Amino acid sequence: VTSRQPLAVALLHHPVRDRNGARVTTAVTNLDLHDIARTARTYGVDRYYVVTPVAEQQRLVETIVAHWREGYGASANPDRGEALKLIEVVADLDAALAHWQACSGAEPLPVLTGARCRDGLDFAGCRRLLHERPLLLCFGTGWGLAPELFTQGWPVLEAIDGGSDYNHLPVRAAAAIILDRLLGVT
Ligand code: SAM
Repeated sequence: VTSRQPLAVALLHHPVRDRNGARVTTAVTNLDLHDIARTARTYGVDRYYVVTPVAEQQRLVETIVAHWREGYGASANPDRGEALKLIEVVADLDAALAHWQACSGAEPLPVLTGARCRDGLDFAGCRRLLHERPLLLCFGTGWGLAPELFTQGWPVLEAIDGGSDYNHLPVRAAAAIILDRLLGVT
C-alpha cells in the first residue's frame, strides 16, 4: 500500500456566486476559520488556505489566527492554536496553488466541490488520486464556487447526497463529511 500524498483544503471567498448567480466576493466568517481548521487538523490535512482578495479581510484573518497562535488565546486554549496553525491567507487560488506546490514539492491538482455535481469524481477515485499527487480540495462560500472554476478541466468531486429533497449543507459540514470519506479510519 503506497502512502497518500499531501492534502490541503481551500475555502474560497472569491470567485463565488451569490443567490442570483452573480460573481461576488463573500466575507470571511469566524466559524469557518475555527471549524474547518479543527476538522482539517483532526484528519491530518496539511494546510488550510483561506482565499480572499480583500486586504482588510486578509488582515482580519491574520489577527484572529495570531490571537490563538501567539496571543492570550495560545495559553488559554492551545488546541485551538494548533488547529489554526494550518491556516494560510492568500489572495487567490493561483497563490494557494503556488504556495501548496512549494510546500508539498509537486504540482498539486485542484479538486472542486459543489452540491449539484451528480456525475463527478467518486470518493474512491479521489482517494486513488491522492496516492498519485498532492491535491487541493476547494470549497465555496456564498452560493458556491463560480462557474469559471468548472471550465478549467479540474476534477469535481461527486456531491454528498443526504437522500432528501433538501441539499444545503453548510460548508463546514460538507468539509467534515468529505474529509471523513477521504481520510477517515473505518
Ligand atoms: N453560507 C453557506 C454556509 O453556511 O456554509 C455557504 C454554503 S457554500 C455554497 C457550501 C459549500 O459547501 C459548497 O460550495 C461546497 O464546497 C460545499 N458543499 C455544500 N453542499 C455540498 C454537497 N452536497 N456536496 C459537496 N459539497 C457541498
